[in-house]
Amino acid sequence: MICLGIEGTAHTAGIGIVDDSGNVLANVIKMVGGESKGIHPREAANHHAKEMPSLIDKAIEEAGLRYDNIDLIAFSQGPGLGPCLRTAATAARALSLSLDRPIIGVNHCVAHLEIGRKIAGCNDPVLLYASGGNTQVIAFAGGKYRVFGETLDIGIGNMLDKFGREMGLEFPSGPKIERLAKRGRELLDLPYSVKGMDVAFSGILTATLQLRKKGARLEDLCFSLQETCFSMLVEVTERAMAHVEKEEVLLGGGVVQNKRLQEMVRIMSEERRARMFVPPDRLCIDNGAMIAWTGILMHQSGIRMSIDETTVRQRFRTDEVEGVWRG
Ligand code: AMP
Ligand code: MG
Repeated sequence: MICLGIEGTAHTAGIGIVDDSGNVLANVIKMVGGESKGIHPREAANHHAKEMPSLIDKAIEEAGLRYDNIDLIAFSQGPGLGPCLRTAATAARALSLSLDRPIIGVNHCVAHLEIGRKIAGCNDPVLLYASGGNTQVIAFAGGKYRVFGETLDIGIGNMLDKFGREMGLEFPSGPKIERLAKRGRELLDLPYSVKGMDVAFSGILTATLQLRKKGARLEDLCFSLQETCFSMLVEVTERAMAHVEKEEVLLGGGVVQNKRLQEMVRIMSEERRARMFVPPDRLCIDNGAMIAWTGILMHQSGIRMSIDETTVRQRFRTDEVEGVWRG
């Protein structure tokens, strides 16, 4: 079985083609970017609408296939920005109807975990999912993917991008902040916001901007922001691992491309005699291959959807997904 997966929850339009052994035959990605003002849902959706047809063609070509070789269409049903989700869903419905192939809506957060299990080679991990819009610690327990900790306000990537925007850095700012942080010398005092198993970032953002106004060096701010926020993420991830007694930690989402975050998670997992898994960059960021692979898992476990059931779910919760394919 060959599945074409469409990602479009936020700033990235992605088309992936995956077979039922988990081979990624194509994974093309186009991200809204380059502006300093950040992401606007309607503009991102227009970007996706404009790019999707050629991305689909490109993916089919990259995979060396024809349209009629596709057996299943999967798409990111949520969570995400309404206009972006609707664009991806529309593309999926159009393909499903015109090719007369089944369609399946996938939870974006669960897809990050499933592609990691397949490609990075872990079996039953705790996922630290740190992206632009989402920040969650997820693990499979009692037949479901459960959220053990999450942000109470904005996603960590979003916070980094907002900080970067105020500093005049280009979107996405995460990689630029990582570079500047390497030249940080002083660890500045920022609020450390872990509340139970959850984290919060907006207070840290405000505090960082205030320190800047008082004349703090940009490099020190970037360094301190990373150290503080990443420590918070590592703390809640470790607590989830202890709670569910899992020995694998998987990273997912664009922010985990950050080498300092990877290093901190690696140290924590080594101290617990656990193992860390990081998918390759193009499968860590938002991408269609993870949607396609999760679509295959769902289809193989007997899940079917009618077109009526493909309405998008902006607030699609990770724990609403029955992980029937996990057995
Ligand atoms: P995603 O939403 O998963 O596609 O990831 C995009 C987010 O990842 C954006 O907020 C970026 O700023 C962030 N990001 C990308 N690379 C890095 C990095 N090296 N360090 C920190 N954040 C990053
Ligand atoms: Mg994502």
